[in-house]
Amino acid sequence: MPRTANKPLALFGGTFDPVHLGHLSVAWEAAELLDAEVRLLPAGVPPHRAPPIATAAQRVAILRAALRGQSRLVLDTRELERTGPSYTIDTLHELRAEQGQRPLVLLLGADAFAGLATWHRWRELFDAAHLGVLSRPGVSASLPEELEREVAGRRIADASALRALPAGKVVELAVTPLEISATRIRELLAAGRDPRYLLPAGLFDDPALLAPYRNPVA
Ligand code: ATP
Repeated sequence: MPRTANKPLALFGGTFDPVHLGHLSVAWEAAELLDAEVRLLPAGVPPHRAPPIATAAQRVAILRAALRGQSRLVLDTRELERTGPSYTIDTLHELRAEQGQRPLVLLLGADAFAGLATWHRWRELFDAAHLGVLSRPGVSASLPEELEREVAGRRIADASALRALPAGKVVELAVTPLEISATRIRELLAAGRDPRYLLPAGLFDDPALLAPYRNPVA
């Protein structure tokens, strides 16, 4: 068996409209805390929210530019290649078929985790992957009752224990809190501002990358 067989594969999904340093920094820290490979999966048609401002191709171009120069965080565009809504449970089943018994870890910001019980077939997510919850400023730790009931017996304190099983545990990953959101970045860009240190520097090298947000189609 290859030496890396139990190295977890962590999946970080989102609209990434646009990807920002909050996403990249927490994904990077999660990779370190879990000693995992991390894939960023941009969502096609997000089932939970309004459609993105930028097209899928524009968001991918931004992600590619943002990820340049490192190899720990990898782009995976499979959800953009599917038609219809991007359901995480379908993505996890596809990855399970590809990865065998390798531990899979679904990374979620604390805000996304708190809303998990509204997701399509949400209870099945725990059979498909572990969950890694990333702390996020301004998000309370309390969970809706049915979600708390589901996760109560699954919590583990030591992230390295995830390696022993392919799925089923929940671990809190205490990452550096960064109060950055794509909503705020879209507002700043639409107002003609230049949020240089909230986004990867490379995004400012090509003016076309952030243009969709500077002149949003109303
Ligand atoms: P928006 O403001 O458009 O809702 P967002 O900044 O929350 O966007 P998403 O693409 O919706 O970004 O988020 C993808 C994932 O990243 C979610 O799990 C979300 O909780 C997490 N996330 C985003 N920003 C942060 C942050 N600053 N710290 C921790 N997690 C974050």
